[in-house]
Amino acid sequence: MPIFVLQLAQLGIVAADLTAALMFLYGLHRMASPVTAASGIFVAGVGMAVAIAASFLHAFGVSAAAQPYLVTNIALALLALCIGGGIAWWSGRTVAMTAMPQMVALYNGMGGGAAAAIAAAELLADKGHGLTTLIVTLLGALIGAVSLSGSLIAWAKLDGVINQPLRLKGQQAFNALVLVLTLAIGVYIAIARADTAPLLLATPVAVYLFFGCALALGILMTLPIGGADMPVVISIFNAFTGLAVGLEGFVLQSPALMVAGMVVGAAGLLLTLLMGRAMNRSVANVVFSNFGNVSKHKAGKIQGELKPMQAGDAGIAMRYATSVVIVPGYGLAVAQGQGKLFEFVKLLQAAGVSVRFAVHPVAGRMPGQMDVLLAEAGVPYDMIFQLEDINDDFKTTDVALVIGANDVVNPAARTDKASPIFGMPILNVDQAKQVFVIKRGEGKGYAGIANTLFYGNNCNMVYGDAQTMLVQMIEAVRGLGLSAAA
Ligand code: NAP
Repeated sequence: MPIFVLQLAQLGIVAADLTAALMFLYGLHRMASPVTAASGIFVAGVGMAVAIAASFLHAFGVSAAAQPYLVTNIALALLALCIGGGIAWWSGRTVAMTAMPQMVALYNGMGGGAAAAIAAAELLADKGHGLTTLIVTLLGALIGAVSLSGSLIAWAKLDGVINQPLRLKGQQAFNALVLVLTLAIGVYIAIARADTAPLLLATPVAVYLFFGCALALGILMTLPIGGADMPVVISIFNAFTGLAVGLEGFVLQSPALMVAGMVVGAAGLLLTLLMGRAMNRSVANVVFSNFGNVSKHKAGKIQGELKPMQAGDAGIAMRYATSVVIVPGYGLAVAQGQGKLFEFVKLLQAAGVSVRFAVHPVAGRMPGQMDVLLAEAGVPYDMIFQLEDINDDFKTTDVALVIGANDVVNPAARTDKASPIFGMPILNVDQAKQVFVIKRGEGKGYAGIANTLFYGNNCNMVYGDAQTMLVQMIEAVRGLGLSAAA
């Protein structure tokens, strides 16, 4: 290969890597606002395509010994891209909104697995890496493999394939033992590869053992955690995957991988901390407790009674209100009632009612789920308010309409020190003059506890599936002879 072609290819790789890295950063920046998020995802996706295309330029620099395999390897890489890209395209288009956490878990696991696979190739090929690079490779391998197997368990729990948390006696001590064993094998591989000690075990066998233990560790760490905590766990594994990818980017000397890995790692870490803060729980509490699975909290007798109301009557009451604040929750996503909800909102607006949406940071089962749900229905962003921006306004609101939300409006978080959600910031809907709650029955929320809001003097329950109830509200208001604004 003429030298100038090689130099040109090298230049192309560096330029494409830097372009991709900048596009990831710019894309992430745009994802910070719902208005620009879709274009941010597009920009980051194009960055990813640039990085993938650049990796094919490495073909120009392969050694003479590897030349005979070049065409086969490129064909295999293209085949893998088509299969993986095809599956991702199809699953992305068909996934239900409520199944999004499972999908994120799977994709996240794939990222960790890809980092671990790079590490495995480097360790098995014995490329004569120095000790520092070997340690970085092994760390990335450990974190990536834990993220792969842990994310797969998280997916199985969210998808209902595994229904029970599985705990061993002395689980944490056992997990610590497996971690120490994995690290010990890692140290052995580093020493063996650095050729400073006589081999007790062939290095490839040690590499397989290392990956076996790391994968087992991910499974052991995730099995005991309750299914409902999986979104936080996925976010932790997301941070792990980013870190693993960044470390393997260092090994491969790829700026695009390093930047992408660090961005994903930092974003995953921040998201984990924010979710923990919004739920008033530490990350350790999520990983080591069994929250949300069986609540140990014994609620005292709640004062008051549940007061059912017909959907049509509630709808008409809102038609004659001055201000309505709507709080969407997990049940709205389950019922897929967002379209009917916005239809109802437009009817209210046409009648001169001021309508706003109040979104809690952990409403639903994944961060941002409610914002996406409302955006899907076409709700304008300026009607959607986050907790800190609207919470003080409930005192002056005529009607708070709670749809399929429970924990995020439970006043026990403010008053009951024994409650598992005590200290979690909630939407103060109980302070509104009138509250209507749409839910199917007396089902509890994610935290598995009773909600004192429902028994309040100012609260009426509209029992039924959210979408069906909204249809009845629309019919009742339409029956008054009003129509939605054009
Ligand atoms: P929630 O507390 O889980 O309550 C959802 C309510 O929706 C249930 O009480 C259920 O009552 C009702 N529901 C279910 N299907 C329905 C349907 N088809 N129509 C009408 N109602 C329906 O939900 P949330 O208030 O949104 O709170 C979210 C919870 O998830 C918080 O505790 C949060 O900490 C936790 N969490 C969130 C995230 C996140 O990232 N967003 C992550 C981890 C954990 P019925 O059965 O009686 O209908």
